[in-house]
Amino acid sequence: MRDINRFTNILQVLVNKYQDQEIWKEVNETLEEIGGNVDKKDFYNPFKHIIIGILAQNTSDRNCVLAYSGLKKAIGDINPENLANANEDFVKEAIRSGGLYNVKAKRIIEVSNYILKTYNGDISSILKESTEEALKQLLKIKGIGIKTAEVFLVYIGKRKLFPIDTNIKRVLWRIGITNQKNKYIIIQEKVKKNLEEDKFQLAHELLIRLGRDYCKAPKPKCSDCPINELCEKNIEPPKKKRKNSK
Ligand code: SF4
Repeated sequence: MRDINRFTNILQVLVNKYQDQEIWKEVNETLEEIGGNVDKKDFYNPFKHIIIGILAQNTSDRNCVLAYSGLKKAIGDINPENLANANEDFVKEAIRSGGLYNVKAKRIIEVSNYILKTYNGDISSILKESTEEALKQLLKIKGIGIKTAEVFLVYIGKRKLFPIDTNIKRVLWRIGITNQKNKYIIIQEKVKKNLEEDKFQLAHELLIRLGRDYCKAPKPKCSDCPINELCEKNIEPPKKKRKNSK
């Protein structure tokens, strides 16, 4: 089966599988658990989105939400002025639950300063630019990598991009679309060859979900995986049938 058909079939299976389920269930569960000061709308606010993007680096959605909630409680409104003028130790303490808090506190303050000085506090002005130029400008911000920049452009700028996180990278390799050694840009090129661009965001979300639920890094759950018949690797040995004791 050609990859383009196989990829489309995989997505269709995942759409059916997850149609009634929350794609970002860890976020929703944590929001419900803390029951407080974080609104999902914050994710769609350009500046807050950048801060959430930094807090999300190398940690789980749960830890990211907890750290963001801590920051909001400590700082009040999350805006460039408040964060650029914040004390670094104060920010560290506020986001401690998110992991890597030393690096992230420094980044948050630096990024806020940069946005304040370069964009007069309004990072959404970047969205007046072409996708290529906006990406170039975002990548000039210390602490913003390619994935964080592209996620910003997809969710805030409605651009047709396919950001790749570690889950997506692993799943694409295992299902046979990419090679394990492929770099970010090569992975994107292969995806673009196999997928129409209006499906990029959906595919991004579904592959992350699959990676978290089944195609886990150390131990994939292939025998339960909804796409195991379409997957090239299918690396988990099938479960042994229990012998009938009679
Ligand atoms: S069958 Fe296994 S390797 Fe393939 S996508 Fe599913 S969990 Fe991953």
